[in-house]
Amino acid sequence: ASGSDENDVVVIGGGPGGYVAAIKAAQLGLKTTCIEKRGALGGTCLNVGCIPSKALLHSSHMYHEAKTSFAKHGVKFDNVDIDLAAMMGQKDKAVSNLTKGIEGLFKKNKVTYVKGYGKFLSPSEVSVDTLEGENTVVKGKNIIIATGSDVKGLPGITIDEKRIVSSTGALALTEIPKKLIVIGAGYIGLEMGSVWARLGSEVTVVEFAPDIVPSMDGEIRKQFQRSLEKQKMKFMLKTKVVAVDTSTDIVKLTLEPSAGGDQSILEADVVLVSAGRNPFTAGLGLENIGVETDKIGRIPVDKRFSTNVKGVFAIGDVIPGPMLAHKAEEDGIACVEFIAGKEGHVDYDKVPGVVYTHPEVASVGKTEEQVKELGIAYRVGKFPMLGNSRAKSIDDAEGLVKIIAEKETDKVLGVHIMCSNAGELIHEAALALTYDASSEDIARTCHAHPTLSEAVKEAAMATYDKAIHI
Ligand code: FAD
Repeated sequence: ASGSDENDVVVIGGGPGGYVAAIKAAQLGLKTTCIEKRGALGGTCLNVGCIPSKALLHSSHMYHEAKTSFAKHGVKFDNVDIDLAAMMGQKDKAVSNLTKGIEGLFKKNKVTYVKGYGKFLSPSEVSVDTLEGENTVVKGKNIIIATGSDVKGLPGITIDEKRIVSSTGALALTEIPKKLIVIGAGYIGLEMGSVWARLGSEVTVVEFAPDIVPSMDGEIRKQFQRSLEKQKMKFMLKTKVVAVDTSTDIVKLTLEPSAGGDQSILEADVVLVSAGRNPFTAGLGLENIGVETDKIGRIPVDKRFSTNVKGVFAIGDVIPGPMLAHKAEEDGIACVEFIAGKEGHVDYDKVPGVVYTHPEVASVGKTEEQVKELGIAYRVGKFPMLGNSRAKSIDDAEGLVKIIAEKETDKVLGVHIMCSNAGELIHEAALALTYDASSEDIARTCHAHPTLSEAVKEAAMATYDKAIHI
């Protein structure tokens, strides 16, 4: 397929932002081409991010449960073993099925798919070096940059994806490391650390800041860290890595307190660098058309996702905002709706965030710290999973639901959940925030029994009145 006829919309990048924008544009009747260099659709998220990490989190959780919990449910084995290659194979199959699925959706919706590296020639022309080694020019009235993000390295540390790995290497290790050091206690580091800790690695997380996952509500964060510590993950907070020595079989990291002080050495078989992600615009030729970027390489856009160059838009990880797949998708849909002459909207205050460890931690809206800082008078309602009959019946009752509501109006401002399946439970809270619901609205919504979701209802009751089961 060549995109030599003029398109209404050309999307550069086939990640969750780009492919969703392309499908939506086609559904709105716009002639659309999507350019992707990876040879597979789905971007970071599907190929080396959300999906393979969740596959491994699930597989490693099953192993861990089989080893530590099945017996008390009366399920007995003589022996439990890991076949790492099979575990990786299952993950790879999930990824390839899903990428092929998106190709199918492109065909169904008549999106032209060009496999290759896109580079701007003008605000309406993209030159593509195709994966077959040819060059083609794709023209479009509107061009959407959806080139996403890439691993952020650390000065002085060379990622070889074998012993010093990024998340991409950590998703494809061929042996279980005896000792794994994770640099960076964000959600990616904690998720990958959990995977390998469950499979038997001794995991130490080194973090420059005083806290893990800085965006999290402080009270939930404390409980979360304690839970991970119970799972034998170690934390070295307020600590920086000053040197890495890979000259022997064992990797040696020299550490120092963030504020300066005595150095120490920590050894590992594998080191995961998960210190964040950078917007990716290399080789895109932004300079050819004068698209501006900010200090950290992100592309600033207005409310309509327009860059400073007319007809050129940007969405997803490459623009400011939370670097999350569902946020990229929302951007993509709203951007295309504007291009089609409709209204689009993304409320960045109501983007849920989930850490897919066990228990999961999910949140939407404001943390207690943020509400305090804004000087809003508020009430907090909490309900521990220990009071939830479903959680007790399956012997998985760690965690709590915490709801923060405005004191005067009872309007829900933030919901924070730590429990298994918190990532599913959070959506009634997201809906509540979207509709400006009060905690009483949630509490008076009939919730099925016995479900984990009843903990959300009871936390809502506790916000303006009292819970029943505690
Ligand atoms: P990307 O997914 O990065 O896609 C951009 C695409 O553009 C890439 O495929 C790239 O090859 C292509 N491209 C770039 N430049 C060009 C060019 N010049 N020409 C052609 N193609 C180009 N988010 C969540 O919401 N939930 C999770 O559970 C989650 N887990 C994650 C786990 C890991 C280990 C990682 C690394 C990330 C995770 N994320 C998660 C983040 C999520 O992957 C990103 O937020 C999301 O992929 C951003 O989507 P995007 O479309 O903006 O960019």
